[in-house]
Amino acid sequence: MPKPLTIAPQPSAASGPSPAVLGTYARQDIVFASGAGSWLTTISGERYLDFGSGVAVNALGHAHPQLVAALTAQAEKLWHTSNLYRVAGQERLAEKLVRATFADKVFFCNSGAEACEGAIKAARRYHYVGGAPERNRIITFEGAFHGRTLATIAAAGNAKYLEGFGPEMPGFDHLPLGDLEAVEQAIGPETAAIMIEPIQGEGGVRVASPTFMQGLRALCDEQGLLLVLDEVQSGMGRTGLLFAHEASGIRPDIMAIAKGLGGGFPVGAFLVTDAVARALTPGTHGSTFGGNPLAMAVGETVFDIVSEKGFLEGVRLKANRLKQSLHGLKDLFPDVVEEVRGEGLLMGLKVKPPVADVVKAVIGEKLLVVGAGENVVRILPPLNVEDSEITEASARLSRALAVFSKNKQ
Ligand SMILES: *Cc1c(COP(=O)(O)O)cnc(C)c1O
Repeated sequence: MPKPLTIAPQPSAASGPSPAVLGTYARQDIVFASGAGSWLTTISGERYLDFGSGVAVNALGHAHPQLVAALTAQAEKLWHTSNLYRVAGQERLAEKLVRATFADKVFFCNSGAEACEGAIKAARRYHYVGGAPERNRIITFEGAFHGRTLATIAAAGNAKYLEGFGPEMPGFDHLPLGDLEAVEQAIGPETAAIMIEPIQGEGGVRVASPTFMQGLRALCDEQGLLLVLDEVQSGMGRTGLLFAHEASGIRPDIMAIAKGLGGGFPVGAFLVTDAVARALTPGTHGSTFGGNPLAMAVGETVFDIVSEKGFLEGVRLKANRLKQSLHGLKDLFPDVVEEVRGEGLLMGLKVKPPVADVVKAVIGEKLLVVGAGENVVRILPPLNVEDSEITEASARLSRALAVFSKNKQ
């Protein structure tokens, strides 16, 4: 006799975190029930101003009417067919990405880590097909974050994320960010590529200077290496440019994107030039879910909105307003705020008290922000944030920072 199924009582979100969810996150004890624009509402009806955007994912805020319409319209037609067949939405979004960037071809996946994995595979395969299989090492930078898969934790080289997970995948050389001479010296006959985030997000909103980016491009050109950009966080309009690297006037060979691309629907992609694409023939890479019709319907709509005339200019204007108010807070609380960092709406406050304490205090003021490396508070509002919301966020930040300051005004 099979044991009868016992129906456990449904846990209520209000009664505390369920032990059934693996404890890999240090979560805030808040449960959101709905969102609209830059605002989130908890299950008990409290409203939070969201300047974290689900870590730069909700590029157009919550429940954007056009994204909701695109997703629901697609949901009624077709969810999934696999990549055994052509996917119309992939072809449309790929065409748009190709027209707007350095790239000739796009591969769709489901996350940032997968996009970076694909980018790493593409770089190695390019040299393999070119008759130099020994060229399989990639230069990366200290403080980097490329995801949590075995290859991407090895790529970033952060000991905290590698510990206890067995042999570190070989093939990565980690160098200090910004030291072009060190890069030049590290390049050897086995070097395949240089991989970098134009702005390190998780690492603490560390901006790679245009001169450094240009220097890397020049080294790649001289030595026949590929320049791989991880714009998972910095891309899709986050800095006020479609992609952050445009600020330095360089073009990569491979670029990983995700986060903002789906505006909250999971999707990633890597983009390549024709020269790299030639190495990735049928059978060399794949994904069951990658580029499914739901993801593509939302991704295309996000892309269309971000590409509308004037949209990115609007992001730059809002970014200036935000930057000014953050500098104002630094002037007001010099004993709490050490530095204002970032570009566009990917901003950081390097603080003096422990960042977790500051984030907690800010969230206590019903403003969501995100911690990052180097004791930095990340501030990532939706790209369509209102001016009045920037003013409100600044007031809430000010109240939270005052708690840590001798200046109590
Ligand atoms: C978030 C992030 C990733 C990983 O993305 P996941 O979707 O979490 O796998 C990779 N690179 C950068 C720069 C990121 O910010």
